[in-house]
Amino acid sequence: MNIQSKESASLALPFSANIIGGKNVEAADGRILDVLCPSDGQAFARIARSGAEDVSRAVAAARKAFEGDWGRLTALERGRLLMKLGEAIADHAPELAALESRDTGKPLKHGKADMVAAARYFEFYGSAADKLYGDTLPFLNGYTVAIVNDPHGVTGHIVPWNYPAQIFGRSVAASLACGNACVVKPAEDACLSLIRIAELARDIGFPDGALNIVAGLGSEAGAALSSHPDVDFISFTGSPQTGTAIQAAAARNNIGVTMELGGKSPQLLFADADIETAVPVVINAIIQNGGQTCSAGSRVLIERSAYAKFSKAIAERFAKVRAGAHDRDLDMGAMINAKQKARVEFYLKQAKEQGQHVLAQGVVDADAPAGGFYVAPTLFGDVPRDNALAIEEVFGPVLSLMPFEDEADAIALANGTPYGLVAGVWTGDAKRSIRVARAMRCGQVFVNGYGAGGGIELPFGGVKRSGHGREKGFEALREFCASKTIVINHG
Ligand code: NAP
Ligand code: MG
Repeated sequence: MNIQSKESASLALPFSANIIGGKNVEAADGRILDVLCPSDGQAFARIARSGAEDVSRAVAAARKAFEGDWGRLTALERGRLLMKLGEAIADHAPELAALESRDTGKPLKHGKADMVAAARYFEFYGSAADKLYGDTLPFLNGYTVAIVNDPHGVTGHIVPWNYPAQIFGRSVAASLACGNACVVKPAEDACLSLIRIAELARDIGFPDGALNIVAGLGSEAGAALSSHPDVDFISFTGSPQTGTAIQAAAARNNIGVTMELGGKSPQLLFADADIETAVPVVINAIIQNGGQTCSAGSRVLIERSAYAKFSKAIAERFAKVRAGAHDRDLDMGAMINAKQKARVEFYLKQAKEQGQHVLAQGVVDADAPAGGFYVAPTLFGDVPRDNALAIEEVFGPVLSLMPFEDEADAIALANGTPYGLVAGVWTGDAKRSIRVARAMRCGQVFVNGYGAGGGIELPFGGVKRSGHGREKGFEALREFCASKTIVINHG
């Protein structure tokens, strides 16, 4: 928490205000937070530290928009506005990517890729808005039954700090396409690109209140949003613990939620896998965003007969991974904040104390500024199946290699954690690839590839402790609507 009084010396830093009802506004009580750059730990901007009053104002603005100018638009008009926002994000990509990269510490090239994806979400859902067909069904003679898709009303979006613009895009664009009005609580550590995108939305003609941003702390603004009695649905991505708190709050209002809660996603390398193709993908799947990715491929399960050869190839390449400041544009940046750095360091220390075998380590750039939240990417070999590194989500650049005996053992090992988000299956045997993919207990499986992040068109979400509900693709639209059955007696 980086709380400053309004009179603090940081007044010299630029202030990004909340967006409520189309206006830039401070927190009702004037409180502010400093925004740190993870690359050097220094404050470079300020945001509102919003409270319950600010959330209530944003929810009221969204309700007014839903019942007024926004709700009156046709699906085609809504869709066109969304596509226009996608274009505006693409047009402003250099500015937005620089902001995102400084705010999150991710390399600039990844900030740019995130803006391509964010723009694409608005394009995808904008073009889907007028294709959300309903249905009819056969019923009694003399009746016609129509099933129409109604928006929920006001949707709350609690967004994490790892891919702010992308996760905002996938959740908010789908909700707006259905006709909902949105209130967004970005993560305290990564707000700036979202505030800017909401300004762009206003500038291109979104009705006031259709899209509101309330910055602040999870325990204050986030808790107020998830428990607000006039919010109709909540979309959340983040930790299982916070997911539980949000579901408990939503349960008190009996509203629906989608929960995307991370994973311990496995990549299965059979001995007949094309290792040349697999190695860079396997490494990227854990290094991307410094391992702070819900769908990070954090376990690599290798058939024992190929274990020595494959682990050597992975280790050789892993040792070349470089971390550094966002503007150095290396393989990865710093961790988002001191807490996440400490979390990763805890896992590394614990594993070393237990005598776990470090196969390779990447390097932190010699020029990385002091005060940045850097950790060296680390590869562990022969990780025991009951070790924390094999079961728990580290959310950092830590990769565990584990041998398996045969196909049945590989499936049991892959499915043997409380999570179930994504899996990768690498094999030259087409029948086996289908058998194993079908046996995975998770929401997405890649065969001879792996796609952490991105994949706008691909339905995404978890089973087991990874959460419930689906985002991305057309399936997300079903989450942000409720069907209504109209039964017409025409004799
Ligand atoms: P977190 O607490 O789950 O934060 C995610 C979002 O929830 C942020 O916007 C946060 O706001 C908000 N939040 C926090 N407490 C809340 C509450 N009581 N009510 C409503 N909203 C609340 O995650 P974190 O503490 O930043 O990170 C811890 C761990 O979570 C990571 O190590 C990782 O395992 C997991 N995580 C997963 C994902 C993912 O993509 N699945 C993303 C991020 C983190 P503030 O940040 O402003 O407090
Ligand atoms: Mg930040």
